[in-house]
Amino acid sequence: MSHTCSAAFVRCMDFRLTPAVEDFFRTHELSEDADVISLAGAAKGLADGKGSFLESQIDLSKRLHEIKKVILVNHTDCGAYGGHAAFASSEEEQVKHVSDLHTAKEQIQSSHPELEVELWLAYIEENGNVHIEEVA
Ligand SMILES: [Zn+2]
Repeated sequence: MSHTCSAAFVRCMDFRLTPAVEDFFRTHELSEDADVISLAGAAKGLADGKGSFLESQIDLSKRLHEIKKVILVNHTDCGAYGGHAAFASSEEEQVKHVSDLHTAKEQIQSSHPELEVELWLAYIEENGNVHIEEVA
């Protein structure tokens, strides 16, 4: 087995995401093919211009494992954003996450134009179910 993988998967540390992330890994055949970078808020640091830690992790993933892609996953009700309560509506919350994901993608591609960046948003429902959808 080569010591390379195709992607870096960036998720929030929030434990509620883990079962859905495990499903995502199975569905997308990433279990043995992705570095996992887990930090509170996921794309938030990069979007806020405080992303040096995340940038350093992506740099390392690229240098050590020759990744071709970054998969960025934000989620609703994220504590790093103040949870659902920080937004007037779920639409406003979604717009903020989509905006931050796009800003983070621009940051990553300004340093690494050759990296593909996929954007995903995980929705945590009232009943605790989580579904992850790709962001256009
Ligand atoms: Zn979170």
